[in-house]
Amino acid sequence: MPKNNVLHISTECYPMAKAGGMADVVGSLPKYLSSFNWDPTVITPRYMLPWFEEHDLEVVFRATLELDKQSLEYNVLRLEDDVLPFEYFCVDIPGLFDRQSIYLNEDGHGFEDEAERNISFQLAVLQWLLDSKSKKKFNVIHCHDHQTGFIPFLIKNAPEYEDLSGIPSFYTIHNGAYNSKYPWGKKGLFPEFDSDLNQFIEWDGEMDGTVAAVRYSDHVNTVSPSYLEDLRTDLPILQLISEEHPEKFSGNLNGIDSDVWNPKTDHLLQYPLKTSVEKFKKENKQAILSGLYHLAGIPLISFIGRFAHQKGGDLLVPSIERTLARFGFVNFYILGSGDRFIEHQVQALRDKYPERIACYVGYNEGLAHQVYGASDFIVMPSRFEPCGLNQMFAMRYGSLVVARKTGGLKDTVIDYKSEGLGISFDYDSIEDLTHALARALHLYRNQELFKELRKKAMKIDFSWTHTAQEYSHIYNRLIEKV
Ligand code: ADP
Repeated sequence: MPKNNVLHISTECYPMAKAGGMADVVGSLPKYLSSFNWDPTVITPRYMLPWFEEHDLEVVFRATLELDKQSLEYNVLRLEDDVLPFEYFCVDIPGLFDRQSIYLNEDGHGFEDEAERNISFQLAVLQWLLDSKSKKKFNVIHCHDHQTGFIPFLIKNAPEYEDLSGIPSFYTIHNGAYNSKYPWGKKGLFPEFDSDLNQFIEWDGEMDGTVAAVRYSDHVNTVSPSYLEDLRTDLPILQLISEEHPEKFSGNLNGIDSDVWNPKTDHLLQYPLKTSVEKFKKENKQAILSGLYHLAGIPLISFIGRFAHQKGGDLLVPSIERTLARFGFVNFYILGSGDRFIEHQVQALRDKYPERIACYVGYNEGLAHQVYGASDFIVMPSRFEPCGLNQMFAMRYGSLVVARKTGGLKDTVIDYKSEGLGISFDYDSIEDLTHALARALHLYRNQELFKELRKKAMKIDFSWTHTAQEYSHIYNRLIEKV
């Protein structure tokens, strides 16, 4: 049976360009879709990042974009190296994407020309799709997050893209807290469409990428079932449209690439897992905690992630201080970056307790693998969490998870007192987090139970297999409707 073609359009994809979990998803879901009669292709912007320099990319399409009276020449390149389990293209738009960061400038703020960047990427992909010479025909277009949110609207409503209007569109909300909102003054960046439609892509007086996507995509999903419920309260457009078309929405739990995240074969781990988990933990702990003392028998609790309000980064330092004041026998590792205030707080904490706290302020993929391998617990005090991947990596690497009950964490981290394998807590307060950390230390003292929970956690299948099948079913439904 010939395979169907799905095109993933995203501003991130691991390993080429990663800022967070969306890259992990776009880099791994396609691989698993191949088992379900789908032939996946991914397209992203080309950035000035090392991966793009290290691989063989060939220009397959050249064109010019008319962007509000400005002409922009761009190229689409195809990956020639056989290093990915899917076909991969990138869009090279000089002046807008040839930067060393995906979203943020040197001060940690979003680029000021975000509208020009996101719109030009979307239009460049659409123009490339219209060029029938260059490639296979896609049966489904899958757009990831707001940076691609106007595509479903444009293929249905801009005369320029009429030839694409029969292709069903699928839209994934990876994080509803981020959005493309542009003043109407930016409308000139878009191709012509009927201005009677303005009202349908507007929210709070501005053009809104999420509103356009939720209204005009043929299917919309979130990256966990509980986050769909959370967003019904937080995102009024989702509530509105899902009341009219409930069948159009689903929550599909993200998976992980269990080949990349395999503690036995992970080449980013200094000491991959052999037969003994104890030895695995001990060796990896020693590798990252060389400056700390009293290692043996002392639990290690770690945080990996963005220092952002979403992740509860502001709760972390005060809770750790309280925990250290009460319990002497614990070490912490903090790996993250983001909010400058929290970065300084974390470094100051490390300076105050150099024998108990290790940290790395910055982004370091290899170190993240090492920390998952070394830790006894990973803490995730998120205020909201669309899915969260850290908890899945953590459990696979034998770290139990201490997490707030929200979004995808609610779906994956069940408290061990409720027959689950982790520690969960309700409120985003320093008190609740500190209490949860105390419970973790209490659990660690009961080594028999701790090891039993850890053993079970390491066996959970968090791979994409199940969810990729759900995606495949939905794609098939969309094709049947056409
Ligand atoms: P989000 O996408 O909201 O940041 P997710 O849990 O979905 O959160 O994914 C975060 C991903 O980024 C995980 O792969 C995690 O290991 C990784 N990560 C986050 N911060 C860092 C960091 N400072 N260094 C290395 N990896 C990081």
